[in-house]
Amino acid sequence: MVDVAVVGGGIAGLSAAWELVGSGACVSVFESTDRVGGKLRTENVAGTPVDVGAESMLGRRPEVQQLLAELDLTPSPPAQVGASIWSRGALRAMPKGTLMGVPSDASTLAGLLGDAEVARAADEQTVRLDTGGDISVGDAVEQAFGPAVVDRLVEPLLGGVYAGDARYLSLRACVPALYDAVQHGNSLGGTAAAASRQPAVAAADQPPVFAGLRGGIGSLPTRLSEALHAAGAQVRVGTLVTGIDRDEQAGRWRLVLGDGTTFDADAIVLATPAPSSAKLLATLAPGACDELRAIEYASMAVVTYAFPASARELLGEQSGFLVPPVDGRRIKASTFSSVKWPWLAQESPDLVFVRVSAGRFRETEALRRPDALLAADGLAELRTALGPLPTPVAAHVRRWGGGLPQYATGHIDLVARLRRELSSLPAVSVAGAAYDGVGIPACIGSGRTAARTVLDQLNPSEPTEGRS
Ligand SMILES: Cc1cc2nc3c(=O)[nH]c(=O)nc-3n(C[C@H](O)[C@H](O)[C@H](O)COP(=O)(O)OP(=O)(O)OC[C@H]3O[C@@H](n4cnc5c(N)ncnc54)[C@H](O)[C@@H]3O)c2cc1C
Repeated sequence: MVDVAVVGGGIAGLSAAWELVGSGACVSVFESTDRVGGKLRTENVAGTPVDVGAESMLGRRPEVQQLLAELDLTPSPPAQVGASIWSRGALRAMPKGTLMGVPSDASTLAGLLGDAEVARAADEQTVRLDTGGDISVGDAVEQAFGPAVVDRLVEPLLGGVYAGDARYLSLRACVPALYDAVQHGNSLGGTAAAASRQPAVAAADQPPVFAGLRGGIGSLPTRLSEALHAAGAQVRVGTLVTGIDRDEQAGRWRLVLGDGTTFDADAIVLATPAPSSAKLLATLAPGACDELRAIEYASMAVVTYAFPASARELLGEQSGFLVPPVDGRRIKASTFSSVKWPWLAQESPDLVFVRVSAGRFRETEALRRPDALLAADGLAELRTALGPLPTPVAAHVRRWGGGLPQYATGHIDLVARLRRELSSLPAVSVAGAAYDGVGIPACIGSGRTAARTVLDQLNPSEPTEGRS
Protein backbone atom coordinates (compact mmCIF):
# COMPACT_ATOMS: atom_id res chain seq x y z
CA MET A 1 0.00 0.00 0.00
CA VAL A 2 1.30 3.47 -0.84
CA ASP A 3 1.32 6.39 1.59
CA VAL A 4 0.02 9.63 0.13
CA ALA A 5 0.09 12.98 1.94
CA VAL A 6 -2.47 15.59 0.96
CA VAL A 7 -1.51 19.12 2.03
CA GLY A 8 -4.56 21.39 2.43
CA GLY A 9 -7.98 20.36 3.70
CA GLY A 10 -10.13 22.52 1.41
CA ILE A 11 -12.57 20.93 -1.02
CA ALA A 12 -9.76 20.15 -3.51
CA GLY A 13 -7.58 18.39 -0.92
CA LEU A 14 -10.47 16.44 0.59
CA SER A 15 -11.62 15.37 -2.90
CA ALA A 16 -8.09 14.20 -3.68
CA ALA A 17 -8.05 12.21 -0.43
CA TRP A 18 -11.44 10.71 -1.25
CA GLU A 19 -10.22 9.57 -4.66
CA LEU A 20 -7.06 8.14 -3.06
CA VAL A 21 -8.84 6.07 -0.38
CA GLY A 22 -11.12 4.76 -3.12
CA SER A 23 -8.02 3.51 -4.92
CA GLY A 24 -6.72 1.75 -1.81
CA ALA A 25 -3.99 4.24 -0.84
CA CYS A 26 -3.11 5.04 2.76
CA VAL A 27 -3.98 8.74 3.04
CA SER A 28 -3.15 11.55 5.47
CA VAL A 29 -4.57 15.05 5.04
CA PHE A 30 -2.78 18.00 6.69
CA GLU A 31 -4.83 21.15 7.29
CA SER A 32 -3.26 24.14 8.99
CA THR A 33 -6.44 25.67 10.45
CA ASP A 34 -8.66 24.11 13.09
CA ARG A 35 -11.24 22.85 10.61
CA VAL A 36 -11.53 21.40 7.13
CA GLY A 37 -13.28 23.14 4.24
CA GLY A 38 -11.16 26.22 3.44
CA LYS A 39 -13.48 28.60 1.57
CA LEU A 40 -16.47 26.33 2.29
CA ARG A 41 -17.44 27.39 5.78
CA THR A 42 -20.67 27.50 7.75
CA GLU A 43 -20.94 29.64 10.88
CA ASN A 44 -23.71 30.13 13.41
CA VAL A 45 -25.25 33.57 12.95
CA ALA A 46 -28.02 34.37 15.44
CA GLY A 47 -28.17 30.63 16.17
CA THR A 48 -28.62 29.47 12.57
CA PRO A 49 -25.97 27.80 10.38
CA VAL A 50 -25.28 29.97 7.34
CA ASP A 51 -22.57 29.89 4.71
CA VAL A 52 -20.04 32.69 5.17
CA GLY A 53 -17.89 31.60 2.21
CA ALA A 54 -19.06 29.75 -0.90
CA GLU A 55 -22.81 29.18 -0.86
CA SER A 56 -23.81 27.62 -4.18
CA MET A 57 -22.46 25.12 -6.73
CA LEU A 58 -23.19 24.24 -10.32
CA GLY A 59 -25.42 21.24 -9.63
CA ARG A 60 -25.28 19.74 -13.13
CA ARG A 61 -21.53 19.39 -13.22
CA PRO A 62 -20.63 15.67 -13.06
CA GLU A 63 -17.99 16.29 -10.36
CA VAL A 64 -20.70 17.60 -8.01
CA GLN A 65 -23.24 14.93 -8.89
CA GLN A 66 -20.72 12.12 -8.38
CA LEU A 67 -19.44 13.40 -5.02
CA LEU A 68 -22.91 14.09 -3.60
CA ALA A 69 -24.06 10.62 -4.68
CA GLU A 70 -21.01 8.98 -3.10
CA LEU A 71 -21.65 10.83 0.16
CA ASP A 72 -25.38 10.18 0.03
CA LEU A 73 -26.16 13.91 0.08
CA THR A 74 -29.18 15.45 -1.62
CA PRO A 75 -28.75 18.87 -3.23
CA SER A 76 -31.11 21.60 -2.13
CA PRO A 77 -32.15 23.84 -5.06
CA PRO A 78 -32.40 27.63 -4.82
CA ALA A 79 -35.77 29.36 -5.28
CA GLN A 80 -36.60 30.17 -8.92
CA VAL A 81 -36.20 33.93 -8.59
CA GLY A 82 -34.16 36.41 -10.59
CA ALA A 83 -31.37 38.77 -9.57
CA SER A 84 -30.76 42.49 -10.16
CA ILE A 85 -27.98 44.90 -10.93
CA TRP A 86 -27.77 48.01 -8.74
CA SER A 87 -26.71 50.50 -11.36
CA ARG A 88 -26.96 54.30 -11.58
CA GLY A 89 -28.94 54.36 -8.35
CA ALA A 90 -31.66 51.83 -9.22
CA LEU A 91 -32.14 48.08 -8.98
CA ARG A 92 -32.67 46.78 -12.51
CA ALA A 93 -33.54 43.21 -13.47
CA MET A 94 -30.56 41.24 -14.79
CA PRO A 95 -30.91 41.14 -18.59
CA LYS A 96 -31.85 37.70 -19.88
CA GLY A 97 -29.88 35.67 -22.42
CA THR A 98 -26.37 36.87 -21.58
CA LEU A 99 -23.20 34.80 -21.29
CA MET A 100 -21.00 36.30 -18.56
CA GLY A 101 -22.55 39.64 -19.49
CA VAL A 102 -22.24 39.26 -23.27
CA PRO A 103 -25.68 40.05 -24.69
CA SER A 104 -27.38 37.77 -27.22
CA ASP A 105 -29.80 40.63 -27.99
CA ALA A 106 -28.68 44.20 -27.24
CA SER A 107 -32.29 45.40 -26.85
CA THR A 108 -32.47 43.50 -23.52
CA LEU A 109 -29.92 46.00 -22.14
CA ALA A 110 -32.34 48.95 -22.42
CA GLY A 111 -32.83 50.46 -18.98
CA LEU A 112 -29.54 49.18 -17.67
CA LEU A 113 -27.68 51.06 -20.42
CA GLY A 114 -28.50 54.41 -22.05
CA ASP A 115 -29.79 54.61 -25.65
CA ALA A 116 -26.37 55.38 -27.18
CA GLU A 117 -24.78 52.55 -25.17
CA VAL A 118 -27.45 50.08 -26.35
CA ALA A 119 -26.96 51.24 -29.96
CA ARG A 120 -23.19 50.63 -29.66
CA ALA A 121 -23.84 47.16 -28.18
CA ALA A 122 -26.17 46.35 -31.09
CA ASP A 123 -23.37 47.15 -33.54
CA GLU A 124 -21.08 44.20 -32.63
CA GLN A 125 -17.52 44.49 -33.99
CA THR A 126 -15.25 41.53 -34.71
CA VAL A 127 -12.58 40.95 -32.06
CA ARG A 128 -9.13 40.45 -33.58
CA LEU A 129 -6.71 38.07 -31.86
CA ASP A 130 -3.73 36.03 -33.05
CA THR A 131 -4.27 32.26 -33.13
CA GLY A 132 -3.46 30.83 -29.71
CA GLY A 133 -3.09 34.30 -28.16
CA ASP A 134 -5.09 35.54 -25.18
CA ILE A 135 -6.99 38.71 -24.37
CA SER A 136 -8.75 39.96 -21.26
CA VAL A 137 -12.50 39.45 -21.01
CA GLY A 138 -12.98 43.20 -20.67
CA ASP A 139 -10.87 44.11 -23.71
CA ALA A 140 -12.64 41.54 -25.91
CA VAL A 141 -16.13 42.63 -24.85
CA GLU A 142 -15.24 46.33 -25.12
CA GLN A 143 -13.97 45.82 -28.70
CA ALA A 144 -17.15 43.95 -29.60
CA PHE A 145 -19.87 45.90 -27.77
CA GLY A 146 -18.36 49.07 -26.27
CA PRO A 147 -17.22 49.97 -22.73
CA ALA A 148 -20.65 50.25 -21.08
CA VAL A 149 -21.36 46.52 -21.49
CA VAL A 150 -18.06 45.81 -19.70
CA ASP A 151 -18.55 48.37 -16.94
CA ARG A 152 -22.21 47.71 -16.13
CA LEU A 153 -22.68 44.01 -16.92
CA VAL A 154 -19.45 42.03 -17.35
CA GLU A 155 -17.64 43.63 -14.39
CA PRO A 156 -20.37 42.89 -11.82
CA LEU A 157 -20.82 39.33 -13.11
CA LEU A 158 -17.09 38.56 -13.15
CA GLY A 159 -16.80 40.33 -9.80
CA GLY A 160 -19.30 37.82 -8.42
CA VAL A 161 -17.18 34.84 -9.48
CA TYR A 162 -13.57 36.11 -9.24
CA ALA A 163 -13.81 39.37 -7.30
CA GLY A 164 -11.77 40.35 -10.32
CA ASP A 165 -11.14 43.06 -12.87
CA ALA A 166 -12.60 42.28 -16.30
CA ARG A 167 -9.70 44.02 -18.05
CA TYR A 168 -7.20 41.75 -16.24
CA LEU A 169 -8.91 38.35 -16.36
CA SER A 170 -8.18 35.96 -19.24
CA LEU A 171 -10.94 35.29 -21.77
CA ARG A 172 -9.36 31.93 -22.55
CA ALA A 173 -9.33 30.77 -18.91
CA CYS A 174 -12.50 32.44 -17.62
CA VAL A 175 -14.99 32.20 -20.51
CA PRO A 176 -13.67 29.50 -22.89
CA ALA A 177 -16.82 29.53 -25.06
CA LEU A 178 -16.25 33.20 -25.92
CA TYR A 179 -12.55 32.56 -26.50
CA ASP A 180 -13.39 29.80 -28.99
CA ALA A 181 -15.73 32.21 -30.78
CA VAL A 182 -12.96 34.84 -31.04
CA GLN A 183 -10.47 32.23 -32.31
CA HIS A 184 -12.89 31.16 -35.05
CA GLY A 185 -13.98 34.70 -35.95
CA ASN A 186 -17.52 33.97 -34.73
CA SER A 187 -19.90 36.49 -33.19
CA LEU A 188 -19.78 36.74 -29.38
CA GLY A 189 -23.47 37.68 -29.34
CA GLY A 190 -24.26 34.57 -31.41
CA THR A 191 -22.31 32.44 -28.94
CA ALA A 192 -24.26 33.95 -26.04
CA ALA A 193 -27.52 33.28 -27.92
CA ALA A 194 -26.56 29.62 -28.48
CA ALA A 195 -25.69 29.24 -24.79
CA SER A 196 -28.94 30.85 -23.66
CA ARG A 197 -31.00 28.52 -25.85
CA GLN A 198 -30.24 25.79 -23.27
CA PRO A 199 -33.56 25.24 -21.49
CA ALA A 200 -33.86 27.59 -18.50
CA VAL A 201 -36.07 25.19 -16.57
CA ALA A 202 -34.57 21.79 -15.86
CA ALA A 203 -36.18 18.76 -17.45
CA ALA A 204 -37.80 16.49 -14.87
CA ASP A 205 -34.83 14.09 -14.85
CA GLN A 206 -32.17 16.84 -14.64
CA PRO A 207 -30.88 18.36 -11.41
CA PRO A 208 -31.28 22.14 -11.01
CA VAL A 209 -28.53 24.34 -12.51
CA PHE A 210 -27.46 25.55 -9.06
CA ALA A 211 -27.36 23.51 -5.89
CA GLY A 212 -26.97 24.25 -2.21
CA LEU A 213 -27.14 21.92 0.75
CA ARG A 214 -29.54 22.00 3.67
CA GLY A 215 -27.40 23.29 6.53
CA GLY A 216 -25.09 25.11 4.10
CA ILE A 217 -22.45 24.18 1.55
CA GLY A 218 -20.04 24.27 4.48
CA SER A 219 -21.51 20.92 5.55
CA LEU A 220 -19.99 19.26 2.45
CA PRO A 221 -16.35 19.23 3.67
CA THR A 222 -17.49 18.14 7.14
CA ARG A 223 -19.38 15.19 5.65
CA LEU A 224 -16.44 14.38 3.36
CA SER A 225 -14.02 14.45 6.26
CA GLU A 226 -16.26 12.07 8.25
CA ALA A 227 -16.38 9.71 5.27
CA LEU A 228 -12.59 9.86 4.99
CA HIS A 229 -12.21 8.94 8.68
CA ALA A 230 -14.64 6.06 8.21
CA ALA A 231 -12.57 4.85 5.23
CA GLY A 232 -9.41 4.84 7.35
CA ALA A 233 -7.80 8.12 6.26
CA GLN A 234 -6.21 10.47 8.77
CA VAL A 235 -7.39 14.08 8.65
CA ARG A 236 -5.05 16.17 10.79
CA VAL A 237 -6.43 19.66 11.41
CA GLY A 238 -4.30 22.31 13.15
CA THR A 239 -1.24 20.91 11.35
CA LEU A 240 0.73 23.33 9.22
CA VAL A 241 3.13 21.83 6.70
CA THR A 242 6.23 24.04 6.73
CA GLY A 243 8.55 22.21 4.35
CA ILE A 244 9.02 19.29 1.99
CA ASP A 245 12.30 17.36 1.57
CA ARG A 246 13.29 14.42 -0.57
CA ASP A 247 14.90 11.34 0.98
CA GLU A 248 16.65 10.15 -2.19
CA GLN A 249 17.88 6.92 -0.62
CA ALA A 250 14.44 5.76 0.41
CA GLY A 251 12.85 7.33 -2.67
CA ARG A 252 10.28 9.02 -0.43
CA TRP A 253 9.07 12.49 0.49
CA ARG A 254 9.42 13.98 3.97
CA LEU A 255 6.95 16.60 5.14
CA VAL A 256 8.13 18.92 7.90
CA LEU A 257 5.26 19.87 10.20
CA GLY A 258 4.72 23.02 12.24
CA ASP A 259 5.41 21.22 15.56
CA GLY A 260 8.86 20.13 14.30
CA THR A 261 7.89 16.52 13.61
CA THR A 262 8.07 14.92 10.16
CA PHE A 263 5.88 12.64 8.08
CA ASP A 264 7.11 10.37 5.27
CA ALA A 265 5.07 9.59 2.17
CA ASP A 266 5.48 8.05 -1.29
CA ALA A 267 3.48 10.80 -2.99
CA ILE A 268 2.15 14.28 -2.30
CA VAL A 269 -0.92 16.18 -3.47
CA LEU A 270 -0.41 19.89 -2.82
CA ALA A 271 -3.92 21.34 -2.50
CA THR A 272 -2.92 24.66 -1.02
CA PRO A 273 -3.37 28.17 -2.47
CA ALA A 274 -0.55 29.21 -4.85
CA PRO A 275 1.45 31.31 -2.31
CA SER A 276 1.60 28.35 0.16
CA SER A 277 2.50 25.89 -2.61
CA ALA A 278 5.23 28.29 -3.82
CA LYS A 279 6.81 28.36 -0.36
CA LEU A 280 6.76 24.57 -0.06
CA LEU A 281 8.30 24.08 -3.53
CA ALA A 282 10.84 26.94 -3.36
CA THR A 283 13.99 24.79 -3.20
CA LEU A 284 12.65 21.61 -4.83
CA ALA A 285 11.26 23.22 -7.98
CA PRO A 286 12.27 26.90 -8.29
CA GLY A 287 10.80 27.15 -11.81
CA ALA A 288 7.38 25.96 -10.62
CA CYS A 289 7.69 28.28 -7.64
CA ASP A 290 8.18 31.30 -9.93
CA GLU A 291 5.02 30.41 -11.89
CA LEU A 292 3.04 29.98 -8.65
CA ARG A 293 4.24 33.35 -7.36
CA ALA A 294 2.93 35.01 -10.52
CA ILE A 295 -0.67 34.02 -9.68
CA GLU A 296 -2.23 36.97 -7.87
CA TYR A 297 -5.17 36.82 -5.45
CA ALA A 298 -8.11 39.06 -4.56
CA SER A 299 -9.13 39.56 -0.94
CA MET A 300 -12.68 40.11 0.18
CA ALA A 301 -15.02 40.10 3.15
CA VAL A 302 -18.51 38.68 3.56
CA VAL A 303 -20.86 40.34 6.04
CA THR A 304 -23.92 38.30 7.00
CA TYR A 305 -26.85 40.10 8.64
CA ALA A 306 -29.73 38.46 10.50
CA PHE A 307 -32.69 40.83 10.25
CA PRO A 308 -36.04 40.55 12.00
CA ALA A 309 -38.80 39.10 9.79
CA SER A 310 -40.12 42.60 8.99
CA ALA A 311 -37.16 43.04 6.57
CA ARG A 312 -38.58 40.41 4.23
CA GLU A 313 -40.97 42.62 2.28
CA LEU A 314 -38.21 45.08 1.29
CA LEU A 315 -36.29 42.30 -0.44
CA GLY A 316 -39.02 41.35 -2.92
CA GLU A 317 -38.84 38.15 -4.95
CA GLN A 318 -35.19 38.20 -5.94
CA SER A 319 -32.05 36.40 -4.85
CA GLY A 320 -29.99 39.58 -4.55
CA PHE A 321 -28.07 42.08 -6.66
CA LEU A 322 -24.66 42.75 -8.17
CA VAL A 323 -22.94 46.14 -8.16
CA PRO A 324 -20.86 47.59 -11.03
CA PRO A 325 -17.56 48.91 -9.62
CA VAL A 326 -17.86 52.01 -11.82
CA ASP A 327 -20.53 53.35 -9.43
CA GLY A 328 -18.00 53.49 -6.56
CA ARG A 329 -20.12 51.67 -3.97
CA ARG A 330 -18.62 49.99 -0.89
CA ILE A 331 -20.10 46.57 -1.69
CA LYS A 332 -19.83 44.42 -4.80
CA ALA A 333 -22.84 42.17 -4.32
CA SER A 334 -25.61 41.17 -1.97
CA THR A 335 -27.34 37.81 -1.61
CA PHE A 336 -30.77 37.59 -0.04
CA SER A 337 -29.99 34.19 1.48
CA SER A 338 -33.39 33.60 3.08
CA VAL A 339 -35.12 34.28 -0.26
CA LYS A 340 -32.62 32.32 -2.33
CA TRP A 341 -32.47 29.21 -0.12
CA PRO A 342 -35.85 27.83 0.96
CA TRP A 343 -34.13 25.51 3.48
CA LEU A 344 -32.79 28.56 5.32
CA ALA A 345 -36.18 30.29 5.45
CA GLN A 346 -37.68 27.07 6.86
CA GLU A 347 -34.85 26.68 9.37
CA SER A 348 -35.28 30.20 10.75
CA PRO A 349 -38.70 31.62 9.83
CA ASP A 350 -38.35 34.51 12.31
CA LEU A 351 -35.14 35.82 10.80
CA VAL A 352 -34.14 37.09 7.36
CA PHE A 353 -30.52 36.50 6.33
CA VAL A 354 -28.87 38.86 3.86
CA ARG A 355 -25.19 38.94 3.02
CA VAL A 356 -23.02 41.48 1.28
CA SER A 357 -19.52 41.08 -0.07
CA ALA A 358 -16.86 43.75 -0.32
CA GLY A 359 -13.37 43.87 -1.83
CA ARG A 360 -12.11 43.32 -5.34
CA PHE A 361 -8.77 42.56 -6.93
CA ARG A 362 -6.26 45.35 -6.10
CA GLU A 363 -8.98 47.31 -4.26
CA THR A 364 -8.23 46.68 -0.62
CA GLU A 365 -9.14 50.13 0.75
CA ALA A 366 -12.64 49.05 1.84
CA LEU A 367 -11.21 46.04 3.69
CA ARG A 368 -8.82 48.11 5.84
CA ARG A 369 -11.76 49.18 8.02
CA PRO A 370 -12.46 47.33 11.29
CA ASP A 371 -15.25 44.72 11.35
CA ALA A 372 -17.82 47.05 12.95
CA LEU A 373 -17.31 49.72 10.27
CA LEU A 374 -17.34 47.14 7.48
CA ALA A 375 -20.70 45.90 8.78
CA ALA A 376 -21.99 49.48 9.11
CA ASP A 377 -20.86 50.30 5.53
CA GLY A 378 -22.67 47.25 4.16
CA LEU A 379 -25.85 48.06 6.07
CA ALA A 380 -25.81 51.68 4.86
CA GLU A 381 -25.45 50.50 1.24
CA LEU A 382 -28.28 47.96 1.69
CA ARG A 383 -30.55 50.69 3.05
CA THR A 384 -29.70 52.96 0.12
CA ALA A 385 -30.52 50.19 -2.35
CA LEU A 386 -33.58 48.69 -0.64
CA GLY A 387 -35.08 51.21 1.77
CA PRO A 388 -35.34 51.43 5.58
CA LEU A 389 -34.25 47.97 6.67
CA PRO A 390 -34.66 47.38 10.43
CA THR A 391 -31.66 47.09 12.75
CA PRO A 392 -30.15 43.62 12.35
CA VAL A 393 -30.26 41.17 15.25
CA ALA A 394 -26.70 40.09 14.40
CA ALA A 395 -23.98 40.97 11.90
CA HIS A 396 -21.16 38.52 11.23
CA VAL A 397 -17.97 39.51 9.39
CA ARG A 398 -15.78 36.91 7.70
CA ARG A 399 -12.64 38.07 5.93
CA TRP A 400 -11.13 36.11 3.06
CA GLY A 401 -7.58 37.41 2.67
CA GLY A 402 -6.23 36.02 -0.61
CA GLY A 403 -9.63 34.43 -1.21
CA LEU A 404 -9.75 34.05 -4.97
CA PRO A 405 -6.94 33.48 -7.51
CA GLN A 406 -6.99 35.78 -10.54
CA TYR A 407 -6.60 34.10 -13.91
CA ALA A 408 -4.62 36.78 -15.75
CA THR A 409 -4.26 36.68 -19.54
CA GLY A 410 -1.88 33.83 -20.34
CA HIS A 411 -3.04 31.81 -17.29
CA ILE A 412 -3.53 28.58 -19.24
CA ASP A 413 0.04 28.75 -20.59
CA LEU A 414 1.31 29.54 -17.09
CA VAL A 415 -0.37 26.42 -15.68
CA ALA A 416 1.05 24.29 -18.51
CA ARG A 417 4.58 25.60 -17.77
CA LEU A 418 4.06 24.99 -14.05
CA ARG A 419 2.99 21.39 -14.63
CA ARG A 420 6.02 20.82 -16.91
CA GLU A 421 8.31 22.13 -14.18
CA LEU A 422 6.64 19.91 -11.59
CA SER A 423 6.96 16.78 -13.68
CA SER A 424 10.63 16.55 -12.60
CA LEU A 425 9.44 15.78 -9.04
CA PRO A 426 8.34 12.16 -8.69
CA ALA A 427 4.72 11.69 -7.59
CA VAL A 428 3.94 15.31 -6.70
CA SER A 429 0.85 16.96 -8.10
CA VAL A 430 -1.00 20.22 -7.44
CA ALA A 431 -4.74 20.75 -7.07
CA GLY A 432 -7.14 23.54 -6.23
CA ALA A 433 -8.60 26.83 -7.30
CA ALA A 434 -5.33 28.27 -8.64
CA TYR A 435 -5.24 26.11 -11.77
CA ASP A 436 -8.22 24.89 -13.80
CA GLY A 437 -11.23 26.72 -12.38
CA VAL A 438 -12.13 28.50 -9.12
CA GLY A 439 -15.62 27.03 -8.70
CA ILE A 440 -16.37 24.10 -6.40
CA PRO A 441 -16.91 21.54 -9.23
CA ALA A 442 -13.56 22.44 -10.82
CA CYS A 443 -11.82 22.15 -7.43
CA ILE A 444 -13.37 18.73 -6.77
CA GLY A 445 -12.28 17.65 -10.26
CA SER A 446 -8.76 18.98 -9.86
CA GLY A 447 -8.33 17.14 -6.55
CA ARG A 448 -9.44 13.86 -8.03
CA THR A 449 -7.27 14.30 -11.13
CA ALA A 450 -4.21 15.13 -9.00
CA ALA A 451 -4.83 11.98 -6.94
CA ARG A 452 -4.95 9.80 -10.05
CA THR A 453 -1.86 11.52 -11.46
CA VAL A 454 0.33 10.66 -8.45
CA LEU A 455 -0.98 7.09 -8.29
CA ASP A 456 -0.23 6.61 -12.00
CA GLN A 457 3.27 7.97 -11.47
CA LEU A 458 3.87 5.52 -8.61
CA ASN A 459 2.40 2.65 -10.60
CA PRO A 460 2.82 3.39 -14.30
CA SER A 461 1.93 -0.13 -15.43
CA GLU A 462 -1.58 0.05 -13.90
CA PRO A 463 -3.25 3.37 -14.78
CA THR A 464 -5.85 4.36 -12.18
CA GLU A 465 -9.47 4.06 -13.24
CA GLY A 466 -10.79 6.29 -10.45
CA ARG A 467 -13.87 5.68 -8.37
CA SER A 468 -16.37 6.19 -11.15
C1 LIG B 1 -16.06 34.40 -0.30
C2 LIG B 1 -16.03 33.33 -1.37
C3 LIG B 1 -17.21 32.91 -1.94
C4 LIG B 1 -17.20 31.91 -2.91
N1 LIG B 1 -18.39 31.47 -3.43
C5 LIG B 1 -18.40 30.43 -4.27
C6 LIG B 1 -19.63 29.85 -4.67
O1 LIG B 1 -20.72 30.26 -4.24
N2 LIG B 1 -19.59 28.79 -5.53
C7 LIG B 1 -18.41 28.27 -5.99
O2 LIG B 1 -18.44 27.31 -6.78
N3 LIG B 1 -17.22 28.79 -5.59
C8 LIG B 1 -17.19 29.83 -4.74
N4 LIG B 1 -16.00 30.33 -4.30
C9 LIG B 1 -14.76 29.72 -4.78
C10 LIG B 1 -14.48 28.38 -4.10
O3 LIG B 1 -15.11 28.31 -2.86
C11 LIG B 1 -12.98 28.18 -3.88
O4 LIG B 1 -12.28 28.47 -5.08
C12 LIG B 1 -12.67 26.75 -3.45
O5 LIG B 1 -13.42 26.40 -2.32
C13 LIG B 1 -11.17 26.62 -3.20
O6 LIG B 1 -10.92 25.31 -2.74
P1 LIG B 1 -9.43 24.81 -2.54
O7 LIG B 1 -9.49 23.49 -1.89
O8 LIG B 1 -8.68 24.93 -3.82
O9 LIG B 1 -8.72 25.87 -1.60
P2 LIG B 1 -9.02 26.35 -0.12
O10 LIG B 1 -10.45 26.32 0.19
O11 LIG B 1 -8.27 27.64 0.00
O12 LIG B 1 -8.30 25.26 0.78
C14 LIG B 1 -6.90 25.22 0.94
C15 LIG B 1 -6.61 24.78 2.36
O13 LIG B 1 -5.19 24.64 2.52
C16 LIG B 1 -4.86 25.04 3.84
N5 LIG B 1 -3.42 25.32 3.85
C17 LIG B 1 -2.77 26.34 3.25
N6 LIG B 1 -1.45 26.22 3.45
C18 LIG B 1 -1.24 25.11 4.20
C19 LIG B 1 -0.08 24.45 4.72
N7 LIG B 1 1.15 24.93 4.49
N8 LIG B 1 -0.26 23.33 5.46
C20 LIG B 1 -1.49 22.82 5.67
N9 LIG B 1 -2.63 23.40 5.20
C21 LIG B 1 -2.50 24.53 4.46
C22 LIG B 1 -5.76 26.23 4.09
O14 LIG B 1 -5.92 26.48 5.46
C23 LIG B 1 -7.05 25.81 3.40
O15 LIG B 1 -7.95 25.20 4.30
C24 LIG B 1 -15.97 31.34 -3.33
C25 LIG B 1 -14.77 31.78 -2.75
C26 LIG B 1 -14.79 32.76 -1.78
C27 LIG B 1 -13.50 33.20 -1.15
